[in-house]
Amino acid sequence: MAEAPTPTYQSLYRKWRPQRFAEVVHQEYTVRTLQNAILSKQLAHAYLLAGPRGVGKTSIARILAKAVNCANPQNGEPCNACDHCRKITKGTALDVIEIDGASNRGIDQIRRLREEIAFVPAETHYKVYIIDEVHMLTNEAFNALLKTLEEPPQHVIFVFATTEPHKVPLTIISRCQSFELKLLPPERIEQRLKEICKAEEINASAQVLSTIAHRARGALRDATVMLEQLASYKGSQKIEENDLFEIMGLASHETVQGFLQALLQKESRRALSIIADLAERGKDLELFIDELIEEARAWILTRLDGGELSLPIHADLPKLIELSRELLELKREISRAWEKRVLLEVKALELTQFSRGSAAATALSSTAPIPTEKVNATRTAVSEPAPAIATHDKWTRLLEEVKRDRRSTVHAFLLEGQPVERADLLRIEYDPKNSFHKEGLEKYTKYLEEVVQRVYGAVRVEIAWAENDSSNRESGSSPRRKSKSAELREKIKLIQEHLEGEIVN
Ligand SMILES: [Zn+2]
Repeated sequence: MAEAPTPTYQSLYRKWRPQRFAEVVHQEYTVRTLQNAILSKQLAHAYLLAGPRGVGKTSIARILAKAVNCANPQNGEPCNACDHCRKITKGTALDVIEIDGASNRGIDQIRRLREEIAFVPAETHYKVYIIDEVHMLTNEAFNALLKTLEEPPQHVIFVFATTEPHKVPLTIISRCQSFELKLLPPERIEQRLKEICKAEEINASAQVLSTIAHRARGALRDATVMLEQLASYKGSQKIEENDLFEIMGLASHETVQGFLQALLQKESRRALSIIADLAERGKDLELFIDELIEEARAWILTRLDGGELSLPIHADLPKLIELSRELLELKREISRAWEKRVLLEVKALELTQFSRGSAAATALSSTAPIPTEKVNATRTAVSEPAPAIATHDKWTRLLEEVKRDRRSTVHAFLLEGQPVERADLLRIEYDPKNSFHKEGLEKYTKYLEEVVQRVYGAVRVEIAWAENDSSNRESGSSPRRKSKSAELREKIKLIQEHLEGEIVN
């Protein structure tokens, strides 16, 4: 006989799902308004609950369904003991119908809804239709829904939930009373996790709960699920911070701090070796960037409060703000990057090698000596025009445009190319040993053509291998340019050493 799961087993998340308005965490405005409507018997026909995932939309919808149908309501709250309440909690009530807009986009269910809606509820006062992810419904389903919303029967209440209210047609929204649910601050999540741990006899360190609370990014559901995973992994043993890193793919706090320090102290090798280590251990690099951002933010807050950071380095506020800005930029880029590790490595090199990317770009292509050391690391706005340099040629401007567009991957690939300008053509040449950069750049030709046009006017762009005879194009360069270029090659070689494995594969 197959082992069925114990029927009494309930996931922590289900078990701790709020069953009364008073148990809903952090959505006080919504909850109070709904409760008042129930008490004063001034219910709307349709409610729209908009908000991020995991903050309590469906829970509130179910509590509302219970409160309006409860045989023994208490101050606008359901009793959770009568037949109606219990059936709704179990999901077996005939008159509370849940439709998932995402699953089959609702066509059949909305059709059935239209047929059934005229009938009075079988067991209770109100028929409550809860439509989750309502923005996913097809136009056909929306139209059907709209007809019922125009003349809703007295015994029907709709509760729509959505994570993307801007995708819900205005014709629907205008017929609803809308609420915007909020993300939970980490302190509220942490407090809730503590309550759960106490009641469930889960042994977890305070640091673990705090990390989970921050990691959940405002979604109590995610936090509860994380806690449950850890608890079932550890059994009755105490959950330590290390377990979090093992199971959740997080980098340790020390690693996060070490990496930020490496960036601030401009230690490329240390930064790259941390990345290599994380990648080898299969850590999620996007999560790692989230953690870096969190930590940098904590450092900034400490500084703002006039506190001292217990770091072996001096990091003043402008430097930390600049670093945060770069990390946020990186976060935007990495979510759509095809090679996350490379992007992180390129960024780490940029941050550790140069004051700002533009300083390096200028040094590479200018024929005049550049006072690089004068480029201030704390110079702020990214969109600020580059410093006035007499030999500000087009290639430099191109690199700066790319930088300004925040395309740091393209920027890094371009740094390895050599521009050759002809009458109606810009040729970007690569040494065969930089095939990685050439192939990388080729993936961005559309953007490249657009940005080249901005600087060079209407010219064709060609990404090509360098011709053997390089005397032609190098003739105009000063020795300084070569040495700068050689220096940059050295730096980029660092990345390549780390990449070799991946390129072969
Ligand atoms: Zn009840």
